[in-house]
Amino acid sequence: MRVIAIPSFSDNIIWGLCNDRAVALVDPGDAAPARTWLEDNGLVLEGILITHHHADHVGGVDSLCRYFGVRDVYGPAACRPHGVTQPVMEGSIVSLPLLGLHLRVMEVPGHTLDHIAFYAEPAGEAGMLFCGDTLFAAGCGRLLGGEAKQLWESLQTLARLPATTRIFCAHEYTVANLHFAASEFPNDAPIRERLQKCQAQRLGGAFTLPSTLSEELLTNPFLRAGNLTDFAAMRARKDVFRAPSG
Ligand SMILES: [Zn+2]
Repeated sequence: MRVIAIPSFSDNIIWGLCNDRAVALVDPGDAAPARTWLEDNGLVLEGILITHHHADHVGGVDSLCRYFGVRDVYGPAACRPHGVTQPVMEGSIVSLPLLGLHLRVMEVPGHTLDHIAFYAEPAGEAGMLFCGDTLFAAGCGRLLGGEAKQLWESLQTLARLPATTRIFCAHEYTVANLHFAASEFPNDAPIRERLQKCQAQRLGGAFTLPSTLSEELLTNPFLRAGNLTDFAAMRARKDVFRAPSG
C-alpha cells in the first residue's frame, strides 16, 4: 500500500492511501490541494476517512464529495454535519474494496470527545495508524474538548499496538515537539539524535512522518510519562512552551 502526503494549510498533512486504481484520503481539511493531486494522478477517490470534527480535518469534505461524486465518508457519528455518511465506532471495520484494504476503528478521545483512529495491517507490511491529532511524532494533541485522563488512556491504547506500526499523524510538528521533549528530558541521547535527524529532514524539504511506534515509545515524552498525574502536568507545560524556531 502506497501512502502519499498532500501538504495543506501551514502544517497539516492529508494522507492518501493508494494503489494504481484508487485512493482514500484521510482528513482532507482543504479541498484544493487534494483536488489538484487527484486530477494530476487520475485515481478514483474511493472514500474519505475523518478522525475528528476540527475544520482543518473536515473542511474539504463537502467540496471533494460533490466534485468527485464520493458517497462514502467514514468518521465519528458526531461528524455527520461535516459530511460523514458512514458513522463508525470502536471496532468498526472500514472496507475499501478498490484498495483491497480493511481498517479497524479505535475510539481515542482526549483531543476532542469524538476522536477516532484508523488502523490497518496491509498484507506483508507493518501496520499503519492514522491518528489525526491524538498521537503526534514526539507529542500529542492538546485538550480541546476531552480531559487529560481520556487522552492518557487513548495514548496508552495506541502504545499497545505492534511496535513496528507506522504513525501517520495529521500535523508536521515534530521538530517543535522534540524541542519540548529535550526540555523535559535534558541530555537524553535518543531525543537529541531524533531532533538532529528531524531538523535535517525539514531543512532538506522532507516530512519527518510517518514515524514508528518504537520511535515514539523511545522519544515521545507523553508516552514516557509514568502515570496520569505526570502526563497531565506535562501536557499543561507543553501548552505554554515556546520552541525555538528550526
Ligand atoms: Zn484537531
